[in-house]
Amino acid sequence: MSELLPYYIVIYTFVFLFGASIGSFLNVCIYRLPKEESLIKRNSHCMTCGEEIKRRDLIPIVSWCLLKGKCRSCGAPISPRYTIVEALNAILYLGIFIYFDVMQTPIHAILVCLLYSALIVVFFMDWDTQLISNYVVIFIALLAVLEYFFSDHNFIIDRFGMPVDHPYGQMLIGMFAVSVPLLAIELLSKGRAMGRGDVYLMAACGLFLGVKGAVVAIFIGLITGSVAGMIQKHKSGDSVFAFGPWLSVGVAVAAIWGQQLGNWYLNFSGLGAPE
Ligand SMILES: [Zn+2]
Repeated sequence: MSELLPYYIVIYTFVFLFGASIGSFLNVCIYRLPKEESLIKRNSHCMTCGEEIKRRDLIPIVSWCLLKGKCRSCGAPISPRYTIVEALNAILYLGIFIYFDVMQTPIHAILVCLLYSALIVVFFMDWDTQLISNYVVIFIALLAVLEYFFSDHNFIIDRFGMPVDHPYGQMLIGMFAVSVPLLAIELLSKGRAMGRGDVYLMAACGLFLGVKGAVVAIFIGLITGSVAGMIQKHKSGDSVFAFGPWLSVGVAVAAIWGQQLGNWYLNFSGLGAPE
């Protein structure tokens, strides 16, 4: 490790900067996907004066700090949200690359990073608009397919607790195990308890996580979502509530610790011996 240290420092610095740049793109997604605007044409402008933001003021994290969070032309405050999203994505990328040793399992690390970016978009977009973009859901499903074709085989073994010759059946069980009960809740509550976007999200994430991870994700999503919902209702009396952000948190946790948490719960509850 010690003689490799300079390489790790270079890689980690690059990963952080790359994560911040992707974070910048995520802001564009969060803002433009609900309005079905193009993600590519790059003319970010001030929300107050409409002035186009100059290239030098578009450096992730740095620009916002240099400008002290104010627009260069009109001085109106710029939401710290943009910088928070950039920094969050950068820190998560760095954490994932350290947790899954990038030299050992680069493809799995990259796919989990991309999954986290998609979850950040779901979190903030659903929070703002109560919508989950189908594009993001399709992107997550695509990551799941790539994971099973290209990721280190050990992760697939880890996911199912045993070597699996054809993991596709397991992928499909993961896809339906949580999403079908959610669909039933959505239909029975006529969309009040759960939106169709939540159903699709958990189908795509279940495909990525496998069945055990999907169950852990919905468990954590329900717990954090109920707490957040109670706090929100207590504070504002508002009953409009987005569930997607908390499902995202559950999926994010399950993508790293799904197997350990699942096995721990089976053991703890006596429901079954962990595989
Ligand atoms: Zn301005």
